[in-house]
Amino acid sequence: MSTLERFSRQKLENLATRGLKRELYPSARGARSGITRADRNLISFCCNDYLGLSQHPAVIAAMVNATRQFGASAGASRLVTGNHTLYEALETEIADFKGTEACCVFGSGYLTNIGVIPCFCGPEDLIIADELCHACQFAGAHLAGSTIITYKHNDLNDLAAQLGEHRLQHERCLIITESVFSMDGDLAPLEAIAEQAQQSDSWLMIDDAHALGILNQGRGSGHDLALRPESLLIMGTLSKAVGAYGGYVCATGPVIEFIKSRARSLIYSTGLPPGVVAAARAAFRIIRDTPALSQMALDRARLFCELTGLPESQSSIVPIIIGQPADAMAASAALEEQGFLVTAIRPPTVPPGTSRLRFTFSAAQLEGDVERLALFCRRYTELG
Ligand SMILES: *Cc1c(COP(=O)(O)O)cnc(C)c1O
Repeated sequence: MSTLERFSRQKLENLATRGLKRELYPSARGARSGITRADRNLISFCCNDYLGLSQHPAVIAAMVNATRQFGASAGASRLVTGNHTLYEALETEIADFKGTEACCVFGSGYLTNIGVIPCFCGPEDLIIADELCHACQFAGAHLAGSTIITYKHNDLNDLAAQLGEHRLQHERCLIITESVFSMDGDLAPLEAIAEQAQQSDSWLMIDDAHALGILNQGRGSGHDLALRPESLLIMGTLSKAVGAYGGYVCATGPVIEFIKSRARSLIYSTGLPPGVVAAARAAFRIIRDTPALSQMALDRARLFCELTGLPESQSSIVPIIIGQPADAMAASAALEEQGFLVTAIRPPTVPPGTSRLRFTFSAAQLEGDVERLALFCRRYTELG
């Protein structure tokens, strides 16, 4: 008889032989990108807290104060009683910062993508996605039930070819891409993609998870594109550079109104705790008022690239492709021996054969730590 347990054991064995079993390690994060694991103090080069704002005293104070005032939980869906007063303020502030008419905050970035995409696309429609789009963009596309076509990563000719071949067979078409690709740190050619969207009468949705707080003095991407704002959706997360938790999408007023009436992951899920929304507001204020922080994160990444001989980084993410999962795990373990935490990224998060170390840089890291890391990486790759 096949039980749940037997099923699980077989699957786990199979994952383990392929070097793909995953583990959860208790981790305690602290200031200056410090992290404690199994009583070892390490410096993290793999958090997405790019500006260190999760540890910022003003962000923590905002969270504590709002929790004292409003309680620990939203108590219900935003559509019922969970829409505490901090939400409207945060949404207005995000829309303002992004230069859009309106914004809707969700429970997470993942919930944003899986909620928003099915609002606008159904079984008759076409979704054209960069092949390296994030798992939750694809999850949203699958939930929509649309025809999904991928184009080669950042390849404008392939995007044009796919549009040429498929666009006219569908009434509506949504193009989806990330602005900064989460596992590679490279940038999408957004201007040219927006032009193709405009020319083919398609809509465009940009996942700005790794650009907000980093690019354009912290404002992220999606500004000044050659596409009617009425056809543009920009989503992002409050869980990375913003240092809190949650997700958001920005668009014109009616688009956001419609999302609030239709997105299932908004309607059927409890609102964010008041403390989390307050923390995000405090963090946004810091990002807006301190563009130097965004520059610091970029500077750390560029220093690392310079010292290791890698091409200059365009974002706060720098991958070193290793190849096989076991080799990436070994490299990660060697770094941990030196006091650096850089988890290995393996399939299916990245394509087979491209297991890697994904370094992330943060304004919270000390330059000296970046230099020590770079020195060790140089020596390690020369030995390897
Ligand atoms: C992290 C991430 C998300 C999900 O955001 P969460 O708030 O962590 O759920 C979505 N898209 C991209 C590209 C991401 O890297």
